[in-house]
Amino acid sequence: MNVPHQPQSPIQTHSGSCHCGAVRFEVSTALEPATRCNCSLCRRRGALMSPAFDVSALRIIDGADALAMYQFNTRVARHFFCKVCGVYPLHQTRKDPQIWRVNLGCLDGVDSYALENTLADGASLSVVEDA
Ligand SMILES: [Zn+2]
Repeated sequence: MNVPHQPQSPIQTHSGSCHCGAVRFEVSTALEPATRCNCSLCRRRGALMSPAFDVSALRIIDGADALAMYQFNTRVARHFFCKVCGVYPLHQTRKDPQIWRVNLGCLDGVDSYALENTLADGASLSVVEDA
């Protein structure tokens, strides 16, 4: 896994949900460095993502059946969104299927606008034009 060499904030367990509450999850992750991405999907959804974590740190508590999956370009990453409210809470990365990220805006008690964040150059990772 190619993680940028930036100090991470402490790993803590957070509860999170989509907007309507159909999807609830718990995740143990650092909050910083948070990441935005300039790929064609992320620039549209505008989410601030958590640092990458192993799938074992994630627990879907409720609403796994409310999650729809979206794939594009190489169709390796799996992007999930709530079928009811449309919010993106989490995704499985393309670099490694064991590695996931969550939408920091979905975590309870976290002010995602106050977090240090970096921009990932997802657009340059594309192997298909305009991904
Ligand atoms: Zn929802």
